[in-house]
Order: sequence, then structure tokens, then C-alpha cells
Amino acid sequence: MSGEGQDEARWRSRVQRERSARKEAERLLEAKSIELYEANEALRKLAADLELRVKERTEELRRREATFSTLFDKSLDGILLNDIDGNITAVNPQLVRMLGYPSERLCEMSVRDLHPPEALATCGAAFREVRETGSARFECRFRRSDGSEFPAEVSASKFDLAGTPMVQGVVRDISARQRAERELREAKEEAERASEAKSLFLANMSHEIRTPMNGIIGVAELLGTTALDPEQTDLVETISRSGETLLEIINDILDLSKIESGKLELETTDFALAECVERALAAVTPAASTKGIEMTCEIAPDVPDALVGDPVRLRQILTNLLSNAVKFTAEGEVGLAIDCAPAASEDRCALRFEIRDTGIGIAPESHDKLFENFSQVDASTTRHYGGTGLGLAICKRLCDLMGGEISLRSKLGSGSTFRVDLTFGLTAEPPAPAFRRGQFEGRTALVVDDHPTNRRVLADQCRYLGFSVATHPSAHPLMDDPELASGYDLLLLDMQMPDIDGLQLAIALRGHLADRRGPPMALVTSLGNFEGRSAEDWPFAAQLFKPVLIHNLAAVCRRLLDTGPAPQKPAESAGDHRRPLRVLVAEDNPINRRVALKMLERLGHEAGSVDDGHAAVSAVTADPSAYDAVLMDIQMPGLSGTEATAAIAARVPTPERPAIIALTADALKEDRERYLACGMDGFLTKPLRIGDLERALAAHTAPRPDRAPA
Ligand code: ADP
Repeated sequence: MSGEGQDEARWRSRVQRERSARKEAERLLEAKSIELYEANEALRKLAADLELRVKERTEELRRREATFSTLFDKSLDGILLNDIDGNITAVNPQLVRMLGYPSERLCEMSVRDLHPPEALATCGAAFREVRETGSARFECRFRRSDGSEFPAEVSASKFDLAGTPMVQGVVRDISARQRAERELREAKEEAERASEAKSLFLANMSHEIRTPMNGIIGVAELLGTTALDPEQTDLVETISRSGETLLEIINDILDLSKIESGKLELETTDFALAECVERALAAVTPAASTKGIEMTCEIAPDVPDALVGDPVRLRQILTNLLSNAVKFTAEGEVGLAIDCAPAASEDRCALRFEIRDTGIGIAPESHDKLFENFSQVDASTTRHYGGTGLGLAICKRLCDLMGGEISLRSKLGSGSTFRVDLTFGLTAEPPAPAFRRGQFEGRTALVVDDHPTNRRVLADQCRYLGFSVATHPSAHPLMDDPELASGYDLLLLDMQMPDIDGLQLAIALRGHLADRRGPPMALVTSLGNFEGRSAEDWPFAAQLFKPVLIHNLAAVCRRLLDTGPAPQKPAESAGDHRRPLRVLVAEDNPINRRVALKMLERLGHEAGSVDDGHAAVSAVTADPSAYDAVLMDIQMPGLSGTEATAAIAARVPTPERPAIIALTADALKEDRERYLACGMDGFLTKPLRIGDLERALAAHTAPRPDRAPA
């Protein structure tokens, strides 16, 4: 190839190379441009994203700030922030309103400037507690810009604000709450004062009423012992009965006021259950027998007799329920049943008393309200039967006080059963039991009684004592064949039976067995006492009062079967062995003085009187041997009975001074203790009863070693 050809070929190839290099460069440029565009796009998207997030975040922050500032601004409590030294850095509008300072002024103050000086100690202690434990809640007084003050409850807590410890305090004005509390307290105190005044009024009223009652009951009793014709006797009895009824009402009112004012204290003393029950029954059996209602009493044999508790209040509950039962029953029976529930503990027993009647009954909707004060089933019942509606309320309160319960099962027209559950202590060393199961094992008894419940109870009691028992519902079989009676060891004959009564039956049996010694006969009766009759017209060896309690039955059986029938000892006539006493009556009320003097005269004693405490002290100290006893009224003007007694006791040694017996309208337990502590020997409650007076004089003037002449 020529040189020219060679140059051209080189040139061509160079052009060729440059062309492909340029193409390559263009391709690279294009690729880079695309890459750049894409990167740019991504960057733009990122920026937009970021912008959105910033916007959202700003929005949320704004919302949160609005929430918190609403909470802060609209709070009903005052809120403040302060540093750890107490310098205030922020306050909410409510705190501004509460304190009356502008907020800028508050933010220049210390928390210490917000309180009166006497509150600073409390606030300082609370502030220390916040620093140590992180929080505190306390009450203290705040002082406003105008110097007035208000009470507040503060809750303070410590927190960290960007590395700086701060304290937040929430202040709540409690003036209204404290005012309401104060008003409530004052209202309560006012109510208590009113109730106290009511109780005092009732106590005073019943004391005031009791004084003339003493005159009425005492004089009626004295009048009853004089020679009267039948009409006069009837009138005097009416006065006595009305007086007793009035007295019961006064006692109820007084009891209730004592219970309501918390002044009724229970006694804790050893007592015999049977005796307590007997006394409750004795109070209502006369009314029951007048109405022809059978009374029954069943004490389960495992019920312990020697108890510790308050026999007076137990008797009051039982008497109340039994007399209601008799009052609201026209015919049929009233029964008392006593059971022993499983022992509460070794030294306590749980007793259940049920008082059943076959009377008018009580509709279920009235049950609960009957135990409230002054509540009766309806006005017509009250008009028909009388009563105050206090009896059951008192029973309920007494049961509550004794830690027991009272409940009722009854339907209108089908009788009522009141149930009382009470626990009592057991006497540490109980006396030997009055009877034993099976104690008359091998003996036989015949019970003649027309009343099914009484017949069953009497037969059960005999069986418990060990007798083999036969029963008859009437006297007829024995009248027809008197020989039937001769096979028994003991005959128990009911007095009130239709056709032939117990007395007629016994006389007939004695006539039939005249020449032989028949079994001893005991009369079972709710009528008056037949004792003291001569053996000729009296075929019975003993009498038992209905409802018969097993210990009385056992005592009669022991007497009749262990020693054979013996004529009964005539009842000891009270007072016949007493010597005439010289008695001084110290009493300011002329009627009461007269009643006491008359009763003493009736008892055959020699009596003088003084009308105040000073005169009593002078009379006794002038010649201590002039009197055997002093009846000392408690409430006398000038010198009270207790003061007079203390004065006598201070001047005359015990063996030389007469017995001093308090005369009191109402003997609370603490009063009795006070009487004995000031030197009195005993007490008598008004209205004075001649029998009580006689017993008290006998008890306290009996020759005692410490009364023997020196
Ligand atoms: P009082 O008998 O003095 O009215 P209580 O509180 O003892 O007051 O009795 C309240 C009322 O309960 C009686 O008035 C009577 O309506 C009713 N009540 C109480 N016991 C009985 C009963 N055994 N049978 C029927 N009603 C009774």
C-alpha cells in the first residue's frame, strides 16, 4: 500500500474510534442523567415526607399543649409549680382567683408567703416530706391577698423538669366541706342534747308521777287491810289495780328512756332459772286463770338451772311476752318452753325461750314494726286491749343489750310464738341439782287432767323423774271404779276439770279407801292457795301450782314418797315473830310520810318522822339508841338522804347506829352502790308496799354481831 493509502486508512480508523468513543460518552451521560433524576426524585419525596411528619408532630404537640393548658387553666383546684426552694414558677388561674394576687406577682413569691404564720410549721414539715419521699398530702390554712384565710387540702409531688427538680402543688379549698362537717357535727350534738333532755324529762316526770303513785298505791293497800264491805273492797281493789297499771306504764317509759340514753346497765349475778321463770309465770297466771286460759311451762331437763346473768331483766322479758300472750288470747293456752341449744362454750349456755299462744295472731306485714317504740298492730286492737306499744320495744332492746335475739312467728287468727335466744354464764360451782333423771325409778304415778298439753307435760316430767305413768283425761273412770287408784304410788289430780273437779274426786277416793292407806294425792291448781285447811276437809297431801315446774314436782314427790304423806306445815304467818321496832321516817313529801307512818303503825312498830335530812341527822346523832331503823328518802331539799346518811355514819359508829334503809323512786345499779357506799344498809323502791317494808325491816334489824351492844 502507498503511503497515501496508509494515511487515509489511519485517519478512517481514528474517525471510527472517535465516533464510538463519543457514542459511549453519550450513552454514559444519558445513564448518569437518569440516575441523577431518580436520586433527585427520591430526595424530593423524602423532603415531602419529612415535611408531613413535622407538620403532624407540630399538630400533636399543639393538641397536647392545649389539653394540658386546659387542664391547668380550667382546673377547679388551684395548681402551682415551684422549685425545690419554694420559689413559685407557675400558677393556674384558679389559684389566682383563690388567693387574689395577679399571676405575675405570685410568680415572684415563695410558697411560704401564701400561709398565715401559724400554718408554716405544718407546711414546712410537708415540704420536707415531699423532698424525702416524693409526695405529701396535708391540710393547712392559706392567706389571701386581702388577709382573709381559708382552709385547704394540698397534694404536693416532686418531679424532674429537664434536669431540674420541681414541685407541683394542687390546692383544694375545703371551707364548704368543713362547714358541712361542722354543721353535721352541730346537728348531731343538738340531737344528742335533745335526746338527753328528753331522757332527763322522762326520768323526772316518772319520778314526779311516782311520788303521788306512792300515795295512791300505799293508801289503797292500807285501806284494803281495814274492815270493808264487799262493795268497798271492790272499789279499793279497782284503785289498786289502776295504780299498778299506771305504774307499769311509767316503768316502761322510764326503762325505754334509760335504754335509749345508754344508762341501763345489766347485772351479772348468780341466779336460779327456775325461780326466775316461776316469778314471771306467777305474775300472769292469775289473769290467765280468770280468762280460763291454760298455762303450760316446759323446761327441757338438760337446761341448767344455776346461771349467771341478769335475772331481773330476763324476768321482765318473759313477763312482758307472757302477759301479751294472755292479753291477746281469748281461749286456749299460753305456753312457755325453754330449751338448751348446743353449748356456746364450756362456761356459757345458749337458751331458747318460746312463748306460744292460741290468740288473735299478728299479720306478717306487722311483725317487724312491732319491735319499734309505741308500735301496735292497729288502733282498734289498742282500743280493745289497751297498752302503750312499749313492751315489745323494751324486750327487743333488752335482748340486744344481752347479746341475744327476739323473733316472732305468727299469722292472723292462728296464735303467735315469740322466740328469745339468750346466752348466760354457768355458775362455777353450781349447787346440787334439785332433781335427777330416774330418781323415782320403780314408782308409779297417775295423772288426771282434762287439758291435753298439761297432761302430757306433767306425764313427761313424771317419766323423766323415773315414774311409770298412766293418765286419764277426766275423773269419771276413777269415780266409776275407785279401786283403779289404789295401784299407784302417787296421784296428781287437776283441780279445774269439767263435771267432777280434782277436789271432788279426791274426797270420793279418800271415802272409798277410808279404812286403807291410799296413795298420797297432790292437787294441781292455778287457783288460790288452799294450804292451811284442816286435815278433815282436805284430802290432799300437797299442792302444785300450774304451770308445774319439774323441780317443784320433784320436791313434792320427795316429800310424799320418801317420808310418806304428811300434813303440810301451815305457812308461816309473816311478822308474827317480829318485835316492835322504833323507826324514824325521814321524808319531805307529806303524803309519802303519812303512808310510811301508817304502814309502820299497821305493822305494829313505833314510828316518828322528820321532813328533811338535817333533822334526820340531828334526831339520830342526839340519841342513836332511840331508833332501830331509819327510812331515809333520797331526794330531800337541803341535805339529801345520802348526805344525811354520810353525816350520821361519820358521827355514830356502825354498831351503835340504827339501820338506814333508803327510800328511792328508782334504784339504778350505780345508785344502789352509792347508797351502800355512803353507809346505808338497804333500800326500798317507791311505791312502798307493806310486805316489802316488813321484809326490809326484818332483814336489816335482825340482831347482827356488828349491831350487838358494845
Ligand atoms: P302493748 O301490748 O302495750 O300495746 P307491746 O309492745 O307489748 O305493747 O305490743 C305491741 C303490739 O303487738 C300489741 O299492741 C299487739 O298489737 C301486738 N302483740 C303483741 N303480742 C301479741 C300476741 N301475743 N298476740 C297478738 N298480738 C300481739
